[in-house]
Amino acid sequence: MRCLILVISLLFSAIAFAQTQDLEKIHSYREKNEASIYSDFISFLKIPNVATDTVNIRKNAEFLVQFMNARRISDVQLLEADDKNVPPVVYGAIKVPGATETVIFYAHYDGQPVNPALWANGLHPFQPQLVSGRIDEEGSIQTSVNFPVNDNWRTYARGASDDKAGVMAILNAFTAIKESGLKFPYNIKFFFEGEEEQGSTHLHQILDKYRSQLQSDLWIICDGPVHQSGRKQIVFGARGDAHLTLKVYGPKNPLHSGHYGNWVPNPVMILSKLLASMKDDNGRVTIKDFYNDVIPLSATEKQALKNIPAVDEDLKKKIGFAKEEMNGKSLMESINLPSLNINGIESSNVGTIQANVIPISATAVIDLRLVLGNDWKRQQQKVIDHIIKQGFYVTENEPTDEERSSHPKIVQVKRGMGDNAERTSMDWPGAKSVVAAVQQTTKDRVLQVPTLGGSLPLEDFVKVLNAKFLIIPIANYDNNQHAENENIKLRNFWEGIDMMAAIMLMKF
Ligand SMILES: [Zn+2]
Repeated sequence: MRCLILVISLLFSAIAFAQTQDLEKIHSYREKNEASIYSDFISFLKIPNVATDTVNIRKNAEFLVQFMNARRISDVQLLEADDKNVPPVVYGAIKVPGATETVIFYAHYDGQPVNPALWANGLHPFQPQLVSGRIDEEGSIQTSVNFPVNDNWRTYARGASDDKAGVMAILNAFTAIKESGLKFPYNIKFFFEGEEEQGSTHLHQILDKYRSQLQSDLWIICDGPVHQSGRKQIVFGARGDAHLTLKVYGPKNPLHSGHYGNWVPNPVMILSKLLASMKDDNGRVTIKDFYNDVIPLSATEKQALKNIPAVDEDLKKKIGFAKEEMNGKSLMESINLPSLNINGIESSNVGTIQANVIPISATAVIDLRLVLGNDWKRQQQKVIDHIIKQGFYVTENEPTDEERSSHPKIVQVKRGMGDNAERTSMDWPGAKSVVAAVQQTTKDRVLQVPTLGGSLPLEDFVKVLNAKFLIIPIANYDNNQHAENENIKLRNFWEGIDMMAAIMLMKF
């Protein structure tokens, strides 16, 4: 018996030792090839990647097809939606003889829309630049790039962190394993989406169409930022998201504010009051039943939250605000609740072109984040019911003259598409292998987080494919994703490759 135990423990240590050696091989392959990996990344970032730009978004997909073919990934193809204007999914596969399990690696190659005028001096969303730090702090733009580059430096471009870094981390991890002569323990599939930032409108259709090709034991979603403490994290779910656009009406033509002020109601004021009625002074949403259908966190999930280091005070200083919106609630507690955010308000002009007018309308976009238990259509309806309760006439169209004369407060409400929140159970045994694999790449304890504050199209994976998923973020938390000056810290990019490789080498 003792002898058997000895043999078993030797066997285990041999496996562990081999894995450590394997990871060292990956690490040194990556270090030797940083210049070429970086140059491929830059070529990819130069291709504009807003999904609505139908010509350029396809160039991104073509770039990936070439990149994957050059690495002899098999079965590389575009998974198309019925409408050919929809950005395709770029797919590829690695079939391992004798392997029974399959893991699909997901990232998206499209990015949020851009406004180049808002980017810092010398930066442009589609002209990637290397900067020796944060551009709004001590960083300066580097005109020449010599390797090895300081890994605290950052690359600025749309998609640098969200999520072309994810695509490249996955593909370079694969290349590093192959070129290092290591064996894959399970089948791998690659799935790179091109419409994520537009709400993954056709993902459901694509998953359904290619259902048999997309069977797997697990999806690894490489997207989002690491924890604010810099620690690596494995995230088990993401919040859902839904939008509403509210347009409040004033006079049919802009009116002189002197001749008509006090007499003609101002739509900006009406909209402001309406929005203000949606939250109390403690940041709680006052809309009826807003929090009612939330499924509470499990005991394991609550415990996991306790293990996450508190970064709130530090973050407040960095972000630049004094007090949290929800009185006394930590960041982690807050993102485990549904939220109501105003994305923006638009009306007449300010600044050099301001005029003394009563504007004709005021528009706000509301962004509802959802947690497990919420249904996005139901959540939108709660907001609409609240608006009606405030005495508004709600319409989906431009109001007619008759409607204008019979209703003092008119709002046009447009419902955007939405996604529900999803979460993989923290008690699912498969997660333990992934946690162990990522743990091998860092000395700090890997954090296990029940949900990401942001949203991902997880509902489609669960609904169509009944899939299991885990989210492995790699980007620095201060990456400005979705905004101007998006960037990735090089260390996060390099470590992202190591992390993806460790997962590709894990044994279930
Ligand atoms: Zn993303």
